Order: sequence, then C-alpha cells, then structure tokens
Amino acid sequence: MTPREKSYGTGWRNFTTTLRYGRAQARCECDGRCGRRHPTLLRQRCNNHHNRPSKEMRGLVKLQAAHLCKCDPLCQDPAHVLMLCQPCHLRFDMKENLQKRAIKRILRQQEKSAIAPETPPKGNYSRESIPPVTST
Ligand SMILES: [Zn+2]
Ligand SMILES: [Zn+2]
Ligand SMILES: [Zn+2]
Repeated sequence: MTPREKSYGTGWRNFTTTLRYGRAQARCECDGRCGRRHPTLLRQRCNNHHNRPSKEMRGLVKLQAAHLCKCDPLCQDPAHVLMLCQPCHLRFDMKENLQKRAIKRILRQQEKSAIAPETPPKGNYSRESIPPVTST
C-alpha cells in the first residue's frame, strides 16, 4: 500500500480496483487529454494495459487513478477519476502542475505591479529591425 492510498483510506483501494477492472477493462482510460500523442493511430484512447509491458516505458504498466476534479479531500467519485498508465499520468500531472505554476506566476506579477511603479521592460524586443524580404 502506498502512502497515498493510506491517506485516502481503505475504501480507496477497492474503489480503484473496481474502476481498473470494471470501467477501464484494465486499459488506460486516457483519451488524449494528457496531451501526449498516443501511438494508437486509429483510436485516440491509450493502448496501455495494466500489468502488461509497453513500448513507451520500462517495466509493467500500472494503472493509477488520476483525479480530474479539485475536490478536497480527494473524492471517490468515478466520474471525477480516470485510470491512467504511468506515461499518461505523468504527463497529466505535469500539465496540471504547469497550469498551477503559471497561475501562481501571474498572481505574483500582479502583486508586484500593485506595489512597484510601472517600469518599461528592459532590452529591445522590437521586431521592426527585421529587413523586408526581397524576392529575386
Ligand atoms: Zn471529485
Ligand atoms: Zn495511457
Ligand atoms: Zn494519454
């Protein structure tokens, strides 16, 4: 049992097992929303299966529950959860983290500009110095 599963409580393991073998049919449920381009060309859904090897990674695929919601504490609502393989899960989390970081950065910038007086940006970012294209 991973620490994460422990913190969710004992019901969590049953919940993910049911989803993994029930709804997901032991196959990654990602339909492309992780942002990866899946090797499956015809269908958008990821073709990694639980406990099977994958060309995309070493070892065996383990499907893990990824929350799509912002429930706090994390819920056990099947509609809020997708069973994802490791490559999809990693990518999915990365996207989430990047978004969170971007939001934080914007908030920080807003705080700064609220305190400090506005200063013009340093350096010359103008693109006007590019010479016009001449055809021969
Ligand atoms: Zn939820
Ligand atoms: Zn996947
Ligand atoms: Zn995916």
